[in-house]
Amino acid sequence: MPQWGMVIDLDRCTGCEACVVACRTENNVPVVGEEQTRMGRQINWIRVERYWEGEFPNVRARFMPVLCQHCDAAPCEPVCPVYATSHSPEGLSVMTYNRCVGTRYCGNNCPYTVRFFNFFEPKWDAPLGEALNPEVSVRPNGVMEKCTFCVQRIQAAKVGAAGEERDLRDGEVQPACVQSCPAEAMYFGDASDPESRVSRLSSSGRAFHLLGELGTRPRVVYLKSGDER
Ligand code: SF4
Repeated sequence: MPQWGMVIDLDRCTGCEACVVACRTENNVPVVGEEQTRMGRQINWIRVERYWEGEFPNVRARFMPVLCQHCDAAPCEPVCPVYATSHSPEGLSVMTYNRCVGTRYCGNNCPYTVRFFNFFEPKWDAPLGEALNPEVSVRPNGVMEKCTFCVQRIQAAKVGAAGEERDLRDGEVQPACVQSCPAEAMYFGDASDPESRVSRLSSSGRAFHLLGELGTRPRVVYLKSGDER
């Protein structure tokens, strides 16, 4: 059984946010508008954080895409009173939307702030609703949501491989963010396969976990950029 993981090379990321747009489109993530955003109610399954280094005029921008880290010791999962979020056998932190009662304990316990609450019933003005992905449910009012590593793509790839009576190939499963990245800064694959690209990159001297000191054991590995090496 694969153990899914992602590697993000910060040396390659240019901060273009193509991954953000692709994720929003693939996963039917609603745009809540300026007013709700001002109240902190925006929904972004992946965001690109920006940091500035140095003093003017020698300033350099750094970018860091942040999404659900699918932690093996996920702080969000044990605090859910109705078991609406749990860990899958393949290492994904999954949401069962129709169990969620919206206490938001999970969001409050996530150190990465990658869980989002639906304050309203999401709406898409016509004809934008025609573009919704039928493989992904639209989350209703009162439900928490977050990155799934595009589990619908994982399932589709598994079904396709099973139909051809073969194993999944390394790199065959590509979440929307990985597929859309023009800089090829993101890689996705089976972290339990020592030959996979994700495994090989994870053992790089540049590899680190975001807030790794918390002991959450994330499935997302970052590669340090530039002179941080
Ligand atoms: S698409 Fe790639 S280069 Fe652009 S922000 Fe996302 S990770 Fe960075």
